[in-house]
This record gives sequence, structure tokens and C-alpha cells, in this order.
Amino acid sequence: MTDRSFRSILTGSFSTPCAENPTVVMMEAGYAKAGIDARYINCDVKPDHLADAIAGAKAMEWAGFNCSIPHKIAVIEHLDDLAESARIIGAVNCVQIRDGKLTGNNTDGKGFLASLRKLTDPKDKTVFLLGAGGAARAIAVELALAGACHITIANRSIEKAQAIADLLAKNTRCSADAQAWPEGLHIPEGTDILINATSIGLGDRDALPPIETDSLGNATIVADVIPNPPMTKLLREAKAQGCKTLDGLGMLVNQGIIGAELVVGATLSAEIMEKTLADIFGVQD
Ligand code: NDP
Repeated sequence: MTDRSFRSILTGSFSTPCAENPTVVMMEAGYAKAGIDARYINCDVKPDHLADAIAGAKAMEWAGFNCSIPHKIAVIEHLDDLAESARIIGAVNCVQIRDGKLTGNNTDGKGFLASLRKLTDPKDKTVFLLGAGGAARAIAVELALAGACHITIANRSIEKAQAIADLLAKNTRCSADAQAWPEGLHIPEGTDILINATSIGLGDRDALPPIETDSLGNATIVADVIPNPPMTKLLREAKAQGCKTLDGLGMLVNQGIIGAELVVGATLSAEIMEKTLADIFGVQD
């Protein structure tokens, strides 16, 4: 057994350079609150150096690491095993290292799901998903595996939406269809959960996905993946129309919690992690 008495457990993320990394601060606050002697280190890893970085993490006995774009797909060829949803999604953002063996997971959709479960169980629900990028794909797969009955995916380029619908049909029991996204997209009656999984609203509190705003009230729950600012214009409009709302902060916090459970085997405090992020993002309430 490795003697860790002389140093902390090492975890972190392989990503691109970034002036301020809220995830690092959030994870270290969670470790500190739980009394875990672990560090979370952000490393700028260029695509050509990914294999060397992974070998380094193994050599230094890191417990695991997250990876972001552009490594989410490229990392897969370096892994020994893949969790089910990561295999279906075809992307990995969290790698667990145990006895030198690497297992890839995808916590994007799982973080969303954990956050959503505080409002509702997605089983048998009808979902309308805006966007067809990496976050949308991960969320669609997790919702389908959790028993959602139908998912409609709307995207500017319908081919990407259709690819997700096909993925669900091939790998899950959930029915799905793809739609193009015209200006003033109508949200259909009977929608249980509407999710904005586009990047519209990131860093811009007044940006609104081009939907028919009056049709927002057709959804019972409106969720947004945007963590900053968390109270997006979409959520403010939805609240005004009587919908229950879910912000992207909870998704980010739950990803951290799920990642820590996988990597260091401990459950961190959601409260302290959420407060840490809210302080960084300057959230008032
Ligand atoms: P991608 O670049 O993979 O996808 C972006 C999506 O947004 C695409 O579907 C794109 O459509 C759509 N989009 C962008 N601009 C517009 C527009 N003006 N009108 C219509 N559609 C638009 O990004 P990701 O999926 O990785 O991330 C999406 C967002 O999710 C990001 O803002 C990210 O911050 C957030 N996120 C939040 C997480 C959290 O924990 N809260 C975790 C992961 C992501 P098209 O295909 O037509 O270009």
C-alpha cells in the first residue's frame, strides 16, 4: 500500500489555460470542509501532451483527474475502462485512477440529473432540450437512462440534434426526435422539463434563447445549464410565468460531488461548495 503520510492526495483537471478557475476553489473548499488532505490542481495540458500528462498523473499516483475540451474524446484511448454513460456519450470528463488502472466517467449529465432530482424524478417525463453540443448530449443520455419517456432535441443545425436522437434510440428505451430551431421556437404544451443546454446566457444576464417566450409557461420545470450568471434571463422569464426553475450552479456543484465520490471516495458538502461558487460569481441571494 502506498504511504501517503508525507503528501496530500493529488487530483485535478487537465484543461486549457484559464485566469480564474472556480472549480479549483470549489473542490478545495469541499476537501477542506470534509477534512480530506487532498489538492485539486488545474494543469494546462496541450493536446499533443495528453499521453505524457496521463503517464505523469499515474507516475505521481494521482487519485484521478477531470478533463475538459479538447481532451474529452482524446482521453478515451488512454483508459482501461469506461462507465456505461461515458461509453454511450462517447466523451469522458472524469478519470478515476486505482492501482494504476484508469476508468473514464462522464459527470456532466449526472451532475444535471442530481440537481434535477431535487425538483422531480425524470422517470416517465417529457423533455424538451435546447442545444445539441456536449452538455446536451450528456444530459440527454442520463435522462434517458433515468427513464424519461420522450426527449425532443432542438438545435440550429438539426444534424447534431438528430445524432443525439439516434444515439438514444440505439442505446436506451427512451423515444426521441430532432427539430430544427426557427426564430421564435414554440415550446409545446405538456412539456414536463425544458432545458437550455446551449451556451446562450453564459456571461450575459440579458441573453435569451430565441424561443416564443409566451410558450415558456407550457413547461412545468425550466432548467438552465448556465452556471454564471445562474439566474439567467430564461429562468427569470420562466419564473414570471409560474414555472419551477433550476439553475446551472447546482449542476456544477453536483458534478464536483460526484467526481469526488469517484476519485477520493468521499461525499463533500454541497452547501459549502455552492456558497463558494456563489461568492465567486457574486450571486446576491
Ligand atoms: P458546445 O459548444 O458543445 O455546444 C453549444 C450549443 O449551443 C450548440 O448546440 C450550439 O448550437 C448552441 N448555440 C450556441 N449559440 C447559439 C445561438 N446563438 N443560438 C442557438 N444555439 C446556439 O458547448 P457545451 O455543450 O459543452 O456547453 C454548453 C453550455 O453548457 C456552456 O455554456 C457551458 O458553460 C455549459 N455547461 C455547464 C455545466 C455546468 O455544470 N453547469 C457543465 C457543462 C457545460 P449549434 O450546434 O447550432 O452551433
